[in-house]
Formats: sequence, C-alpha cells, structure tokens
Amino acid sequence: MSSDAGMLVVLAGPSGAGKTTLARRLVEEVPGFEFSVSTTTRPPRGEERDGTDYFFVSDDRFDELVRLGYFLEWAGVHGRRYGTSRDWVCERLAAGRSVVLDIDVVGARNVRRAIPGAVLVFVAPPSLEVLEGRLRGRGTESGDLLEGRIDAAASEMRWAGAFDYLIVNSDLGAAAARLSAIVDAESARISACGYPRPAGFSPLIRGSHREEWRGRRVLIATGPTREYIDEVRFISNRSSGVMGCELASAFRAAGAAVTLLLGPCRAVPPRAVALERFTDSRDLAGLLGRLARSHDILAMPAAVADFRPSRRVTGKMPRGGGFQLQLEEVEDVSASVSGLCPLLSFSLEFGDRVQAISRARRKMEAKGAFASFVNAGGIEGSGMDADANSGVLLLEGGGAVDIPQGSKRFVAESIVSSLPVPPGRGA
Ligand code: ADP
Ligand code: 5GP
Repeated sequence: MSSDAGMLVVLAGPSGAGKTTLARRLVEEVPGFEFSVSTTTRPPRGEERDGTDYFFVSDDRFDELVRLGYFLEWAGVHGRRYGTSRDWVCERLAAGRSVVLDIDVVGARNVRRAIPGAVLVFVAPPSLEVLEGRLRGRGTESGDLLEGRIDAAASEMRWAGAFDYLIVNSDLGAAAARLSAIVDAESARISACGYPRPAGFSPLIRGSHREEWRGRRVLIATGPTREYIDEVRFISNRSSGVMGCELASAFRAAGAAVTLLLGPCRAVPPRAVALERFTDSRDLAGLLGRLARSHDILAMPAAVADFRPSRRVTGKMPRGGGFQLQLEEVEDVSASVSGLCPLLSFSLEFGDRVQAISRARRKMEAKGAFASFVNAGGIEGSGMDADANSGVLLLEGGGAVDIPQGSKRFVAESIVSSLPVPPGRGA
C-alpha cells in the first residue's frame, strides 16, 4: 500500500532524553524522512552550524517571524525561544515526504492542534540520574543552565500522557528500533494509505482512479457547528466529521489539492491537506466566502446547526430562576456560496426512499448543486456519527449512482470516482 502523504513525527521530552540522537538516526535509517531545522534565539554551541542544527537569529528577527506567521508552532524553552517553519513542514508533507521534529512538549501539543494527524512520541530517560549523567556527558551546558534543564525535566514528564507513544531511551539501539516500528505501523494506518485495490478485486471495489483529479483544487467543509448559548453550552448535532475527512483522503489519493474546513470534532484529517478550523456557522460562512472562488469544487458534508440562540450569554449562566431559550434560524451557508464554485451537497433524509430522493433532488436544484449525496437517516450504525455509510449520488441531468453500505472510506472513494472531473480553473 502506498502512503499518499508524508508522515509528521514529533519527538519531545526532557533535554538530554535522546531526541536529537533518535531523530538523526531516523533520517539516516528510514528513506523519505527529513529533519526539520528549527529557528532559535539561543547562541550556537560547540560544533553547531547555522542552517544544519538551527537557524540562529536575534530576538528582533524572531519577533518579526512570529508577526509574519512564519511558525507552525513556537515556544519559550529554558529561557530562549524556538520555532518550527510552517511552510517547510507543510510543503514536504504535501510532496509525500516525511518529517521529524525534535521540539519541546508545549510545541508538540501545538503541532497536534495545527496538524491533527501528527504522530506524537514522548522520549523519556530511564531515570533522572541517567538524564543528568547524559547531559553532563554531552558537555554543552554547565552550572545554572544545566541545573535548569534537570529541574525542567520533572514538569516535562507530566505531559507524557498527551502523546501517542512512549519510548524509554535506555539502550539506544532498542530505542531506535522501537521508533522505526512506530513509523512502520503508522505508515500502514488505513488513514495514511491509498485504498487497497488488489487486482482480482477491482470489479468489486470501485475506488477512484489515481491522479484523475490532479491539478484540481477541492474545498471540503465537514463536522458540526456549535452555536453557543453561553461560554460553555451550545447547540450542535451528532456529525463526527469523518465523512469529510475520508473524502479529503479520497480526493488526495485521486491527485487533487485539498483544503479541509473542520468543525469542532475529533475526526483526524489526512496529513497533506491545508486545514482551517471553524466553530459556528458564521465562521464557516466567512471561510467559504474567502476560499470558494479559488477552488474547483466545494463538497459540503458539514452539518451546520440549523438554529442558534438569539443571544449569547457572557460567562456561565447560573442554575435556578428559570430560563427560556429563544432560537433563530441560521442562514443557509451553502446557498451563500452559490455561483462561487460548483457544489457537491450532502443531504440526510428520513422516511420513504423514493420520496427522500425526490426531496433531495429538489434541494440540490434549489442550491444550484451539480451533485448531491443522499443518505437515509434512521439506519442503525450508518450515516451520521457512525463508522459506515451508504446512499445515492444524484448527478445533474437526472443520473444517479447507488453506493452500497461500506466503510465511510469506501463510500468516499465511490463518490470521488463517480463524479465528473471539472475542467479546472486554469484550464
Ligand atoms: P536531547 O536531544 O533530547 O536533548 P541528545 O540526543 O542530545 O538529547 O542526547 C543527550 C546525550 O545523551 C548525547 O550526548 C547523546 O549522545 C547521549 N545519548 C542519547 N541516547 C543515549 C542512550 N540510549 N545511551 C547513552 N547515551 C545516549
Ligand atoms: P537545545 O537548546 O538543547 O537544542 O533544545 C532545547 C529544547 O528546545 C529541546 O527540548 C528541544 O526539543 C526544544 N526545541 C528545539 N527546537 C524547537 C522548536 O522549533 N520548537 C519548540 N517548541 N521547541 C524546540
């Protein structure tokens, strides 16, 4: 199976745990991996070279880079600042290369927020004594600087639980082997692979033809919206965001460049997509208004909450004293982008199948969509908030494609392979 996007591996843990050593070995031993060289305000030490170990910059230059949005993440560590270049990492991932970062625990958690598919590995020393011995042996810090790094280790260890994997670096060979095993397992994740199409199965598995969508830009909005009542409570729905993330994978596998707009949900998007987050329907409308025009199609499995509170209360509304919730209807977000970009709409319909399909076709035409995927509500284990899906893809001119029940990944692949490929804005 081939990976259609690179992997982002983040190594974090206390100073002296062995992150740099493990990251360099990974680059040497696993083809396709590159080390991300960070930018720092700390001065070079010993043999360190600008551009190889770090980009060494002044405080003023670092401020400027922060202002320019240059960093994917940055953090203050041991009294200095360190940051990772956003463009360098994202360009490599989009090109199918893999990247390893050696950063602190705060930075690792921020990377997870920006790139949810990142693989977070915590590197721990076998004991504080061993850590101290290694830092003294490395000989790069002494006195207060050395003490500071040892003191920080205890608080850094508290964050191990926020990571995906733990490597206790006792024996270097064993630790490096474990890191390779993690990378191996991660590269076989279904979410990181093209859809398996063994030759004899091709009549049974529709699957998208690779590269058919190359040169096309696809915008996908997925997940629910949250319409806040106060600062902790909201109106939302059961959308998991998974259908849109699987569509993003399927369009990527078919060669498209994908921008994914992701609502508040835990679905993990594929790595090589440009990601933007929204919370409520106004955020989503704003993003669509900004981005729709520059894309060749907009796919909208997003489940916008249809109603919002007429007023948002500041703070947390106290119990007692009674409370009445006044709702107003939310504008039709996909109608607001009508004409900016061809639309693939999604519609969840309950009741009789024939009526549901004709209702969905009317909605599709009213929205000016060129295609619409209709799935039936009320099927146990299928559709919203479930692993499986099935439905009918309605096409302009009266055509329809039945997509039988399968994983959401299968349904996404089937949708992508059944859609007419648009000419592309540049064509
Ligand atoms: P970090 O990047 O986490 O600060 P380093 O990779 O610089 O840590 O490792 C700290 C020191 O410990 C280095 O001198 C390195 O050669 C050494 N080291 C790393 N892993 C091991 C290990 N498993 N056994 C012995 N020494 C190690
Ligand atoms: P050192 O000064 O020993 O090279 O690094 C000190 C700490 O800064 C280490 O924990 C290292 O992982 C972290 N670090 C290095 N580069 C970055 C970066 O780009 N971002 C963040 N957040 N931390 C970094």
